[in-house]
Formats: sequence, structure tokens, C-alpha cells
Amino acid sequence: MSPRRGRRPPGWHPPRGRRKRRSTRISGPVDSSPEVVPGTPLQLPTTLTVQDLVLRLGFPAVEVIKQLMRNGVMASLTQVIDFDTAALIASEFDYAPKREAAAEPHDLGALHQLALASEPAENGALQVRPPVVTILGHVDHGKTTLLDAIRETQVAEGEAGGITQHIGAYQVVAKDHPITFLDTPGHAAFTAMRARGARGADIAILVVAADDGVMPQTIEAIDHAKAAEVPIIVAINKVDLPDANPDRIKTQLTEHGLVAEAFGGEVITVPVSAKSGEGIDELLDNILVIAEVAELRADADRLAAGVVIEAHVDRSRGPLATILVQNGTLRPGDALVAGDSVGRVKALLDHRGQRIQFAQPAQPTTVLGLTDLPAAGDPVVAFPSDRAAREFVEQRLRERSLKPSHVARAPILEELGAGDGQIRELPLILKTDVQGSVDAVASALNGLSSDSVRVRVLHAAPGSINDSDILLAVASGALVIGFNSSPEPGARSLAQQNGVDIRSYSVIYALLDDVEKALKGILDPVTTEVVSGHAEVRTVFSVGRRHKIAGCYVTDGSIFRSDSARLLRSGKLIASGRIASLKRFKDDAREVSAGLECGIAIDGLADFVEGDVIEAFHTQQSPP
Ligand code: GDP
Repeated sequence: MSPRRGRRPPGWHPPRGRRKRRSTRISGPVDSSPEVVPGTPLQLPTTLTVQDLVLRLGFPAVEVIKQLMRNGVMASLTQVIDFDTAALIASEFDYAPKREAAAEPHDLGALHQLALASEPAENGALQVRPPVVTILGHVDHGKTTLLDAIRETQVAEGEAGGITQHIGAYQVVAKDHPITFLDTPGHAAFTAMRARGARGADIAILVVAADDGVMPQTIEAIDHAKAAEVPIIVAINKVDLPDANPDRIKTQLTEHGLVAEAFGGEVITVPVSAKSGEGIDELLDNILVIAEVAELRADADRLAAGVVIEAHVDRSRGPLATILVQNGTLRPGDALVAGDSVGRVKALLDHRGQRIQFAQPAQPTTVLGLTDLPAAGDPVVAFPSDRAAREFVEQRLRERSLKPSHVARAPILEELGAGDGQIRELPLILKTDVQGSVDAVASALNGLSSDSVRVRVLHAAPGSINDSDILLAVASGALVIGFNSSPEPGARSLAQQNGVDIRSYSVIYALLDDVEKALKGILDPVTTEVVSGHAEVRTVFSVGRRHKIAGCYVTDGSIFRSDSARLLRSGKLIASGRIASLKRFKDDAREVSAGLECGIAIDGLADFVEGDVIEAFHTQQSPP
């Protein structure tokens, strides 16, 4: 029996006249070697272990190792080999090796992107999927009321009796076409999802109250939707009020780059009243039109991929997560990884709490069976087996402990100017003290654009730098510039967590100078190294066979647990690495200052000698 059996698509037969032949170069047990049609494509990653190669080839390990030896490579099963070596061996076995798409093997975000972008399954075709809509706008302009009104239209259409639950998203059916609404309104939620790597919505409804007009959060919402390149439909709400003035709203929108159809532009505006229900049908019709133009397609015949919309712990049922399926079909029994959580779908519920047998693209569903609580915006990927899902998570945890990574990270100014000639666009978010300086600074920044590089101001507004600015920066890879404006405390720490570069200026020339230098790629680095202190090695302890701890006396400054360290012997650099542990007596310490004794271990270093000096240091960004 061929061990490769399961790898072929159903109905696959070798072409006539080119009967499979056993590879003649391989001598091995007849019944355990597969038959390879010469030229069978085989995807291989950039690096893999010999064991992994054996599994992919389907030949016995001994044969693969023999073949490696024939090619001058002495490798054990656990050894890692590169693509070129693996490809050479694969072609010896008659395969046509190809490099696997460059996804980080254990990066869920990358896997999720691949799952969304993938071609349809064998012989399959992409099917039309419903649009996913989000509602944005200024506070009190009626976002929540509009969402409720839209939901109620459907209750009137036959769902009466079912108790609707807020699960973060729901579907309505308009003219036989389902439409999915995300029911956490507001651009902060929308951009937070994008910042975590998920494109949650296909269409944004911008709600503007007809009696109030375009307000600061309306402008933020417009900029966030534009940065996400999501089509916008404007719902001019509260038209039931006597002082409603839809034309005034359209004029104001023009100033922000949204030109209504009535004014010769392309933006659809629909007058509505969330209170009376007027205009809602027209709004739904327009959503369907935009969805049709956008040609939203998905492949329902593959394993599901999606995004977490909302999650909470239910006392009796454990973690419950609402997942928006974005591609494929999710079914009870599927193995899932959702953010850091892993599990097996025990049951799927709809927004009335009823069990459903599957959830298809653009369908939200509450999933029972995850072991931990994922976060909103986390990517979700279904795996072929529980084991595959668990292995993925475990491997990723191991990789993370070696190398912390962010789902998305905004570049810092110096990286943009790194001079590789690749940067075509510098996305910026600009906050200033007063409205007057917004336009002045934004137009001066735009003036720096040249043929090869362009400044793209994603959002410019007066006020302090807030969370929503930082989220937009993460989601769009932008940097944040404050002109006489500084970050709010929460925004500062959010920026630090996500590696967003915030630059504050009070002199416009300094601001323009830095951005211009960044565009030209000549900005001086501002990261400097700071020595925190020195310690002398007085004794050396062994921990286990491999690890050594240096018993030290701090001679000057302080040693911090978060520092890196250099080991100096007679003034010469012996090695360097991160401080792996810092102890005062038996306890972990964050800092040990001059005059005190401590134990220090350095990553990957087991070669201390009495009299060595440990120099602790960290890097610091100097103010621009
Ligand atoms: P949100 O902050 O954007 O979610 O706004 P809400 O949906 O909470 O609405 C704010 C206020 O506007 C509430 O008092 C609503 O009753 C009211 N409102 C919303 N839509 C309409 C409408 O179409 N007409 C009128 N007259 N009032 C509305």
C-alpha cells in the first residue's frame, strides 16, 4: 500500500502512457516506497528537518538519509537542512520541488492571510459571499439606534419570538441577500481589528446626524475608513428632525474628500431615520449594490479561517467566542486556533443562541469549545486535526520565547529612511495644537513629496495624540507626528507596546527637516547604547551540566534584569548576550546596584572566570 495515498486529490489518476515508475536510483523495501510520477510538484519550506523531509517525500527515512549521504550531507533526522539541499534530494526522488510561499511557519496572522488569499480547492470555484458592514460616526449620531433598527427589520421578517443576543455581529436578509453587520460601532473597534491584522469589514456606513453635521469623530471615521481602503456609504441620520439639513451635511463632507453623487461625486448618501425606519431599505439596497461591485468571493469548500469578533467566559459553558468566518466553512468537530487559544468546536450557535450545523463565509457564529479566551481581532484558523492545531500552538510558543513578535508593527522614522530605495510612501498621522496649524503643517508635509516618495497624511486633526491615532498607526504602518501636541498617557503606553514611533515638535522647520531626511534616507540614527553598570565576577557556580552563574559584586552603576551584557576579560570582549537571570541571594531581582552582590547568568554563556567584568547595557532612543 502506498503511504502517499492520502495526498492525492480524490479522482486523481496518473496520466495514461506515463505510468508511474518506481524511482530506480533508490533501493529499499518494495512495499514501503511510494511511486512518484516524475515531475510531481512538492512544496518545501526555506528550512526543514530531515524528518520533515522524509514525511513530505513519503520514502523511508533510511533511503532519504542515504541519498543525503550520496550528496555529501551527513545529517541525522532531527538536523535542519536548507531548501537547496532538500530540493536536491527531492529531485533525486523524481519530485519537482518548489519553494513554499514565504509564510512564517508558525505565524497565525500569516497563515490566516494565506487562508484568505488562497485559490479555491481542487476543481472548486469561488462563491459569492455576503458583505460585512461596519457602522462608524460621531458619538450620539445614531450608530447604535441604526444597528438596532436594521436588526429589527429582520425580526419583523420572521424571526419574531427568537430572543436576539448581542454576539458582536448579526446577519440580516435584504431581498434574499444576506448582509453581515458588525455590531460594535465606531472606528476604534474597526481599526483595533485592523491593527491586529484582520480586515474585518468590506463596507463602512458613516452615520452623520442631519441636525448636527460633520464632527471631529466623523472626520476620524472618514480617515480610518479611507486608510483601510474600505468603500464608504453615508447614512444621513435623524432626517425626521425638523432642523435636519442633509444638503448642509453633503457640503461639509465635500470638504473632507467625500463628494456626494448629488454633487457630481461618487459617494452614495442615503437620508435615513433610525427612529422611524425611513430610508433603511434604501440603505440596505445600496449596500448590496456596493457588495456586487466589490465582487466579494470566498471558497466555502475549504477549512475555515476567520476573525474573533467578541469573546467572553460563560459560567457553565466556558469560553465563548463569536467568530466571523471569512473563508471556508466552520463545522462542529473542527480543530481551531484562535489567537493564543486552541480547541475543538463543540457547537456552533447563531445570534439567537440556536445550534447551527455550519458557518459559511461572512457568517458570524458563537463557538463553544475553545480552551482559553481569545481577544477580539485575533485571527482564527481551522486545522485538519486537533494534533496539528496543538502542535502549531506549541511550536509558536517556543518560537515566541526566542523572538517576540508583533502582529503588526509601525515602522520607526529611521527604518523608513533606511535607504534601500524601496519606500514609496511615508504614511503619517498628524496631531496639532490648533486647527489653523493642521492645514499649514499638512500642506507643508505634502509639499515634501517627490516623484519617488510621497508623504501620505492619513489623518490630521487638532488635539492630543489618542488611542485611536495609535491604533490607526499600527494598522497602517504609519508614524505619528505631534506639532505642539503630545500623547495622552494611555496612548503613550499603547504606542510603546506596539512599537509606534511618536515624534513631537514645536518648531515646524525641525519637523519638516526630520521628515525630509527620512524621505531622503539620511536621517541619523537616534538609538544609543547606555551602559548601566559593571560587576566583577568573584565566584562561578554550576547549575546542571551546562549552565553557569557568575557570583558578582556590582562595582558601579546598576545591573538591570532587562539589560544585555558583555563579558570582558582583561579588557577584551569575550562574549555578549542578554541577561538570562539576575538574583539577590535566592530571589529574582529587577535591579542590583553598586556595592551589592548578585548572581548573573547570561544567555548562551557558560564561560565565566573569576576576575571577569560584566558590563551591563541597554539601548535608548534619544529625543529627536
Ligand atoms: P451613537 O452614540 O452613535 O450610538 O448614538 P445612539 O444610537 O445612542 O443615538 C443617540 C441619540 O440619538 C439617542 O437618543 C437616539 O434615540 C437618538 N437618535 C438616533 N437616531 C435617531 C433618529 O433617526 N431620529 C431621532 N430623532 N433621534 C435619533
